[in-house]
This record gives sequence, C-alpha cells and structure tokens, in this order.
Amino acid sequence: ILLVNHVTKVYQSGNKSLTVLNDISFEIKPGSSVAIVGPSGSGKTTLLGLCAGLDGASSGNIVLNGQSLDSLSEDERAAIRNKHVGFIFQSFNLLPTLTALENVMVPLELLGMKNVKPQAIDLLEKVGLKERINHYPTQLSGGEQQRVSIARAFANQPKVLFADEPTGNLDEETGAKIEDLIFNLNKELGTTLVMVTHDGELANKTNRILKLKGGKLAEDTQQEASLSNS
Ligand code: ATP
Repeated sequence: ILLVNHVTKVYQSGNKSLTVLNDISFEIKPGSSVAIVGPSGSGKTTLLGLCAGLDGASSGNIVLNGQSLDSLSEDERAAIRNKHVGFIFQSFNLLPTLTALENVMVPLELLGMKNVKPQAIDLLEKVGLKERINHYPTQLSGGEQQRVSIARAFANQPKVLFADEPTGNLDEETGAKIEDLIFNLNKELGTTLVMVTHDGELANKTNRILKLKGGKLAEDTQQEASLSNS
C-alpha cells in the first residue's frame, strides 16, 4: 500500500541546507500497523508528511495506493489525500469555528458527497461522542477533541491512516482509550496504520517498528507477537 524508495529530504534555510532524511527505503503492506520511532529531530514527522503527500521529497519516490506521489502536482496530491488518506495530528487540528459534527462532515463534503450528516453522526457515535456533536472544539476536552479528529480521519474510509503522536497531548487514561479506538478501527476496517510515537508501549502494540536515527532507517523490527494477535 505504501512504498518508500530511496527517499531523501533536504530543508533549506537561508544558505544552509539540512538533510533530515537520507536515502530511506521500506514497504508497508495493506492492513498492517507500523510505528515510526526515533530521537527528537530524527525526521519522524517529516517522513510521515512525505508518506501522506503533505510535502514532496527532495529525491526518491513514494508510491501510495499504487500512485507515485512525486509525479503529481500539489492539487493532484490533495485529491489523493482526500480520497485515500486520514491524518491525526498531535494537536488535533480541528477547525475552531465549526462544531464537532461539522468538522466530521467537511471531508465527506470535500469528496462531493451529499446528505452527509447521518454518516457523520454515525462516526461520532462510534467514537463515543453522540451527546457532544453540536459542541465547538473549545467546549470539548482534549480527549474529546482527539475523538472528533479520529472520526474525521476515518470519515473518508481511508486506505491508510497516518497519526502523529495521537496520544501525545493526552493523559494516560484518555490516551489508552484513544489507542483502543485507533487499533479497533484498524482491525474492523482493515485500515493500514502508520504512526509516529515516543511511547514505547504504544509502538509495541503495532506489527512493525521503524526506527530513524541521524536521517537513516536504523532498525526495522517485525513484531511477531502482535501479528499473531491481529
Ligand atoms: P520530534 O520527535 O521532536 O517531533 P521529529 O523526529 O518528528 O522530531 P521532524 O519534525 O521531522 O523530527 O524534524 C526533523 C528536523 O528537520 C529538525 O531538525 C527540524 O528542525 C527540521 N525541520 C522540520 N521541518 C522543517 C522545515 N519546514 N524547514 C526547515 N527545517 C525543518
């Protein structure tokens, strides 16, 4: 479902250039769950953004759901994201002027769907927020906002869900509930899950751990135990 082929990312700031990712290659199979780990500044968020088509690689190639991202324009990449990709951010990234319900309706409307309200309500019910659908993000707790962002990320029934520290801003108990929710949806819908995390326990629940270090893929560990459980 995702092929990363000799990808390098260089950031330019002024006349300095910083190589954040240096010749990274791996392949992710449909339906699996993968954690990207590594020290702060090792390029995890950058790699996730490239895989999701949020930004372009400096060299190399990424193939998402059979389509090579580097040959596409920004508009074409956005169309692929809307159709096939879900994204959960550490900081939730909800639109503050829209209610929970409206935040979940947006990606469905972007796909040109009509009468999306019942479907959006269903999604919010799945994440346990049926009573809160008309609340604005500021009227919701951190955990509730993250639930809305999960409902939104799953609205387009994505082939791949990318999550950047999905439990990073939550207390332990709320984080555990959010984890369960993501893994359940991963299993229920067969959505491929790729997430960046600093949390070793969370990483251990995935099928595979990719460790970045100094811009290189330092380790690639298959986790047999969780594979046989899933
Ligand atoms: P953390 O765990 O702290 O979130 P990370 O592994 O996710 O870190 P990235 O956010 O990918 O790391 O950043 C990798 C490096 O690239 C950092 O040194 C960062 O300062 C730099 N960087 C990230 N985005 C940009 C940008 N848009 N322009 C220039 N440099 C950037």
